[in-house]
Amino acid sequence: MNQSIEQSIKVTGARNKNLRNVSLAIPKKQITVFTGVSGSGKSAMVFDTIAAESQRQLNETYSSFIRHRLPHYGQPEVDSVENLSVAIVVNQKRIGGNARSTVGTITDIHSLLRLLFSRIGRPFVGYSDVFSFNNPQGMCPHCEGLGKVNTFRIESLIDKEKSLNEGPIRFPTFHPGEVRWKRYVATGLFDNDKKLKDYSEEEWDTLLYKTGFKPPNPTKEWPPTSYYEGIIPRIERTFLSKDSRDSRAYREAIEQVVAETACPLCHGGRLNQEALSCKINGTSIADCARMQVNELIVFLESIEDPAAATIVDTCITRLKQLLLVGIGYLTMDRETATLSGGESQRIKMVRQLGSSLTDLTYIFDEPSIGLHPQDVHNMNRLLLQLRDKGNTVIIVEHDPDVIRIADHIIDMGPRAGLAGGTIVYEGNWDGLRHADTLTGKCLRQRARLKSEVREPTGWLHIRDASLHNLKQVSVSIPTGVLTAVTGVAGSGKSTLINQVLPGVYPEAVIINQDMIQASSRSNLATFTGIFDDIRKLFAEENRVSPSLFSFNAKGACPECNGSGTITMDLAFMDSLVSVCEACQGRRFHDDVLQYHLRGSSISDVLAMTADEALDFFTEPGILAALLRIQQVGLGYLTLGQPLSTLSGGERQRVKLAAELDHSGEIYVLDEPSTGLHLSDCERLMSIIDRLVAQDGTVIVIEHNLDIISQADWIIDMGPGAGQDGGNILFSGKPAELLESPHSVTAKYLRQFRT
Ligand code: ADP
Ligand code: ADP
Ligand code: ZN
Ligand code: ZN
Repeated sequence: MNQSIEQSIKVTGARNKNLRNVSLAIPKKQITVFTGVSGSGKSAMVFDTIAAESQRQLNETYSSFIRHRLPHYGQPEVDSVENLSVAIVVNQKRIGGNARSTVGTITDIHSLLRLLFSRIGRPFVGYSDVFSFNNPQGMCPHCEGLGKVNTFRIESLIDKEKSLNEGPIRFPTFHPGEVRWKRYVATGLFDNDKKLKDYSEEEWDTLLYKTGFKPPNPTKEWPPTSYYEGIIPRIERTFLSKDSRDSRAYREAIEQVVAETACPLCHGGRLNQEALSCKINGTSIADCARMQVNELIVFLESIEDPAAATIVDTCITRLKQLLLVGIGYLTMDRETATLSGGESQRIKMVRQLGSSLTDLTYIFDEPSIGLHPQDVHNMNRLLLQLRDKGNTVIIVEHDPDVIRIADHIIDMGPRAGLAGGTIVYEGNWDGLRHADTLTGKCLRQRARLKSEVREPTGWLHIRDASLHNLKQVSVSIPTGVLTAVTGVAGSGKSTLINQVLPGVYPEAVIINQDMIQASSRSNLATFTGIFDDIRKLFAEENRVSPSLFSFNAKGACPECNGSGTITMDLAFMDSLVSVCEACQGRRFHDDVLQYHLRGSSISDVLAMTADEALDFFTEPGILAALLRIQQVGLGYLTLGQPLSTLSGGERQRVKLAAELDHSGEIYVLDEPSTGLHLSDCERLMSIIDRLVAQDGTVIVIEHNLDIISQADWIIDMGPGAGQDGGNILFSGKPAELLESPHSVTAKYLRQFRT
């Protein structure tokens, strides 16, 4: 008995968020999956208790000098967490990064290639630094290692039909009357009434490009000490320099007049000519960077030089791990800033596999996101590998195909928010399938393929699409029904549906899980618009001004500006949020809180859940908005919960709620099942059905078989990823897909046949 305690992480009395004094043991060196409806408290336990406590204890071991510079983790509300090892969280936060961060650099594969080329490349050009585009020795001198340059689209920037007086420069601060326009008019170099199309070559060159001289005959508005600078160098200086504030503030205007094109010198290779001329079997390091993982493996396997054997083997092992996690379609030169959250997470996973540390605790947040059932199968092997290296693996997951590989399962619930926060089942997969919990029930009665599908009301047409990996794709998508777009990760689903389709049908409404663009003070009440009504009610009841109850007026707590929290920006680290001491999180001045509506202060109302508020209010407008929130399954959220604290799935459903009363729209949903428990998926299906019933067209990109099985139409892409994908394999009714003998999607979908 004692020994088994030794061999587990022991949490006693956890009370974060909605957790109700939960105690549990997580077996070490095994895989434990946490599951349960969204809002049940999985993150509160796994991230806010276990991961936070590990980080806090680790920080304690540093000197106070270092500690002050580390991200601060509040003391989790828990009696004790024993037997913890260092926890590494592998989440879906995008890696981001600047243009110098690529898949190759972040996985260290680029360093291995550099080493390889410096050993056996012909001709030999130097040490491995010579092959680094982030090092002055290696970078292309023209683009400084970025592989691309900004070129002006002169015809967009300048209207040649106009004279200087008529304002020919289409750029902020260069319009008639504005400072920079005045400069050109005052030089005395130009006839200000002459159309630009009539300029001599000399005049045109001066206007656009010349610099560094004093105009000989300026008007008296010309500042006497100033040197002349043509339009292009002028814009470059202020708006294109890398870190200037203006380059961020005027980004949209810049995008209108500047195009990114491949560098004419290195053609995107990023390196100088000497480094590019160094080759192995006729292939340069830049050629390698342009290959997909699977192609690069083939190239490396063809190298026979024994001097390179170790490097080649290390590199191939790394690359095969990328294949296993389903991102074999990525090229080494792909910038990390363009990777999706799921791709970012899988890269982080591979980075961890490369480490030789053992006895760590790895924490994964829904690793199945973005993965076809086929990819999930492969990724499971990596998770098992991590465990077998002697690590403890904790996974928050809804996908039954991941849950079943767990050695131990903790099911949280029974429901969300206040109705959750306890453990409802603990044990193995077999037991879970028979358990009397929501998860158990859903596993016993998973959706069946629909026997009767809805008939299309019309068609949306895409012709000859060839963005990214798409191979001249033409496809018709039915309107008035639910279409599921399927295929392995990287096959081209998002490219077709999120990028090409809105280009052809700009009216499509994209409902994703991205942050809702709003101020830090936005919450459910302000987003749904009911806060204005609530303030009015308070004002009428108490005969005061409604603005008293606004977050940005004098009634709000001045310390936190009505947010109830103080956020400390720690520059490059996660910022630190703490409850405002002045108002203790109540957001308003004491004298505002004395005003009541039906016995509650404005702060009390913001603390109500949407469910509670439905009992509290009687006003039809407010009730309708609250009802929509309840209908998307978010009745457990409080009115004052900041939108920034919602999970991705919650954000998406808040956006869906806002659409519930619209009709006839085209909706695009990218993996709406993310973050959703099987029972939440049923609810999502009923929302989608309602949108379809209101003449809506719903297109989902999905991997979740419970949702795909409910579609009226399926578009399957593939067959592989990246260059091996980009084709439509099937477009038709689900029952027909099942007949297709080679489709991987059909293979997994067959288990849903009625
Ligand atoms: P899960 O991970 O199971 O989806 P969480 O642990 O994230 O659930 O959330 C548990 C409960 O705590 C939910 O009801 C959620 O709305 C609530 N909650 C989460 N973050 C906050 C917050 N910052 N303020 C108030 N309640 C929160
Ligand atoms: P899916 O949605 O099926 O996972 P994607 O449409 O995201 O697939 O990707 C299809 C192909 O297009 C992949 O090879 C991917 O690497 C490439 N791709 C996607 N986005 C970009 C981008 N911003 N820049 C370059 N290539 C991209
Ligand atoms: Zn270049
Ligand atoms: Zn305050």
